[in-house]
Amino acid sequence: MARIHELRDGVYVIGTDNWRLNSGLIVGSQRALVIDTGAGPRQGREILAAVREITQLPLTVVNTHAHYDHYMGNAAFQRAGVVEFWAHKACGAAMRQHGDFQRSFVSTQEPEMGDGEGLDTQLVFPTNTVPGNGRRPSLTRIELGDKLVTLFFLGLGHTDNDVCVGVADIVFCGDLVEEGADPSFEDSYPQRWVETLRALAALERYKVFVPGHGSPVSSTFVLQQADTMALALKRAEQSDTAAHGTLTASMYRLPYQAGVARIFLDRLATVRTETAASEPQPANSEQMQPQSQGIRQ
Ligand SMILES: [Zn+2]
Repeated sequence: MARIHELRDGVYVIGTDNWRLNSGLIVGSQRALVIDTGAGPRQGREILAAVREITQLPLTVVNTHAHYDHYMGNAAFQRAGVVEFWAHKACGAAMRQHGDFQRSFVSTQEPEMGDGEGLDTQLVFPTNTVPGNGRRPSLTRIELGDKLVTLFFLGLGHTDNDVCVGVADIVFCGDLVEEGADPSFEDSYPQRWVETLRALAALERYKVFVPGHGSPVSSTFVLQQADTMALALKRAEQSDTAAHGTLTASMYRLPYQAGVARIFLDRLATVRTETAASEPQPANSEQMQPQSQGIRQ
């Protein structure tokens, strides 16, 4: 059973059990906006049913990023008449590239999606994307009648395609912010994630930050997540400098649980290799600049 929590007039968090996912619902006078659709037809329909308890208005969907639990319920919404699916430019590319592979992650909770057979199991890709080159901060606005919603990208972080959704003093952050568990580093950019989190926390109009999983938090929590990540980066660097033999993950004394620490270190190594491979092309040096400016809410 989905849990519905109204944060402000017409702004809701819809919590579902699988992956402890938070979806969002913003109801305007003309349309309503749904943020993240779950990991398959079952969770998608559960979220849709919760939405329809609240509003019968036409819907627009936003997927915060290209991870299965945030977009694999899209087909259920498409069948219900949704034609607009918003995301970051790189989100569609990632869905096309990894979508079928990601089916293996949902087989237990969403067997039809895992098999790719049955109603609402097709992958539904973005129809509209946040403007810009996909690397620099950018934003767009969606009007729902009496509510104006801002979709924005601040820079690399949990993935290369994290979109936040702001309305009034609330911002839905996708998995850029994680409450109740360590962040997920699998295809993240840890160095840049720190900057992106600080840029997010600095957007003063927002008072409530809704994470993709867990309870809503304040900007203080977002800054703490950035500081913890910065500490982890520092310790990883110090350990690398001191190391002459093989280091086990525990020797890094990272502020994350062991499994997450391992993924963090693996990902750091991968990002480092990718960065090295892309040098010495000067065009890329621009991408290494912090992108904490350039967006005004
Ligand atoms: Zn994610």
